[in-house]
Amino acid sequence: MTKNIRFSNLDRKKTIAKLKGETFDLVVIGGGITGGGIALDAASRGLKVALVEKNDFASGTSSKSTKLIHGGLRYLKQFDFWLVKEVGSERAIVHNLAPHLVLPEKMLLPLIENGSYGKWLTSIGLKVYDILAQVTGDDKRKMLEKKEALKLEPLLPKKILKGAGYYAEYRTDDSRLTMETIKTSLQYGAMPLNYAEVTDFIYEEDLVAGVKVRDTVLDTEFPIKAKYVISAAGPWVDELRGINNSKKGKRLHLTKGVHLVFPYEKLPIKQSVYFDIPDGRMMFAIPRGKITYIGTTDTNFNENKDSVKTDVADAIYLISAVNNMFPKINLEMEDIISSWAGLRPLIHEEGKSASELSRKDEIFTSDTGLISIAGGKLTGYRKMAERVVNRVAKKMEEDYGISVKDSDTEHIPLCGNDFKKYKYVKKYIAEIHERLTPEGFSHYDAWYLVTNYGKQTETILQYYAKQKEDDHVLGMAKAELKFTIENEMVQTPMDFFIRRTGRLYFDIDSIRNLMEPILAEFKTIYKLDDEVINSYRKTLERDCLLYTSDAADDLLCVD
Ligand code: FAD
Repeated sequence: MTKNIRFSNLDRKKTIAKLKGETFDLVVIGGGITGGGIALDAASRGLKVALVEKNDFASGTSSKSTKLIHGGLRYLKQFDFWLVKEVGSERAIVHNLAPHLVLPEKMLLPLIENGSYGKWLTSIGLKVYDILAQVTGDDKRKMLEKKEALKLEPLLPKKILKGAGYYAEYRTDDSRLTMETIKTSLQYGAMPLNYAEVTDFIYEEDLVAGVKVRDTVLDTEFPIKAKYVISAAGPWVDELRGINNSKKGKRLHLTKGVHLVFPYEKLPIKQSVYFDIPDGRMMFAIPRGKITYIGTTDTNFNENKDSVKTDVADAIYLISAVNNMFPKINLEMEDIISSWAGLRPLIHEEGKSASELSRKDEIFTSDTGLISIAGGKLTGYRKMAERVVNRVAKKMEEDYGISVKDSDTEHIPLCGNDFKKYKYVKKYIAEIHERLTPEGFSHYDAWYLVTNYGKQTETILQYYAKQKEDDHVLGMAKAELKFTIENEMVQTPMDFFIRRTGRLYFDIDSIRNLMEPILAEFKTIYKLDDEVINSYRKTLERDCLLYTSDAADDLLCVD
């Protein structure tokens, strides 16, 4: 079983003392999937690595994606064959690295009268997609007749439906994928820290030789010295290039993407659908346990990056598109129970609209030696990390004569994966269900635990067994809280409810019952005063209770 390494903000002072006292080979700025992937790649190649994240891990774009590990079918339309080939091939690899967290998800692409693609073009497109991504066996695309498509998804528009494409993708929880990647880097000695913001760089002979960090938990500042610094700050990459006086040449172009969440009963699709919308774009509707989520928008964004919100126009756009494709569905604003909005850190190209910009990643190296990486996809994080660490490896060889071994992350299972194959994940869910049924838990609860934590579920169940709560649901939540505080750097209730457990998006009702007892746990564990607890309560109430109000004009998004 993968080892649980203690990774806790209860040890924060000690962690900071170590970060201050050592010189690292590499400091990574940003604890999203890109930064996490780089930390794992570099540490597993023998480099001494620190990572700093200004908020919580995955609090940027890496908790706001469509949560698909996908080949990006639509990039074929832009003739971006290289990108489709890379991310397409990565799907199966990332699934193998974490089969409990990256789950197979068949996608239905309905063909409708006057839609973007005809049957012939879709068939060829999906075939090329399969070839580029080296898809084999049952996963190869199928073209379905109208009757077959309606059998898979009876809510599709019968009158205008002509058939469908049916192909393989994967679904994940982006925050958990980021968290498990960062935790896996610990096994190779990496030292990641959240709530630690880089405010400036340290220079030696005009070259970047570390970072200055503001610790927002203990309210202190400290330096970290390093041979090399990589900025994987996503939408904030240009800010750091600005601090480094190296914002020249290419720049970022941010676009906002919104997702809305509905109770499953309001949009009871039997399976994931990728469909045409009237303005020529395409969007996803994805059922997931108790909810179905839809998305996404793609609009230029020039506002405050630290406060990205879902607004009414976004919600109307997405709801109309769903109501248009599924005639028996009549979603309304009041049906929204949650939402998330994130920023795509894309590379600007003159004259191109938001949807036309390439999703390819780029690496910039400044004259002072700061390496920045931006663009790319969640799906391609492993290859992006390998590419940028290859640059550092080359520099280590040139500057210090140290040779760094090649990347082997393709063979490093992520924390929680003791399964070898997906079929063992399914068996384990059934086993956990059987073990938990006498306690009053459902199949959903077993599925949730395993697809969130993999085999780490065993540790949570050990904590649960020691709980004295009469309420089994609260007992399990407290066991999860203990696990995530001790092993996943949970610092606030929002870290817990949003990014470690996904409850705000996928099971918002549960928060309403758990909020007070969990706040009480935080008060005791972190010895917090009432003022701090009240501010946490306010934030949670704003994020959760808002969606019970029918004041659509107040629509806000978390973080
Ligand atoms: P981020 O996750 O934003 O991480 C950067 C981090 O840097 C942040 O956490 C930030 O707090 C931190 N930071 C910034 N400044 C500092 C500082 N000064 N000091 C310390 N830390 C700092 N890709 C897919 O493969 N599949 C999908 O389904 C998919 N859907 C998407 C849908 C939407 C709406 C969007 C917006 C993107 C989607 N993507 C998808 C793309 C994918 O989500 C992103 O490519 C990826 O999450 C970017 O990760 P990142 O680590 O580069 O950036």
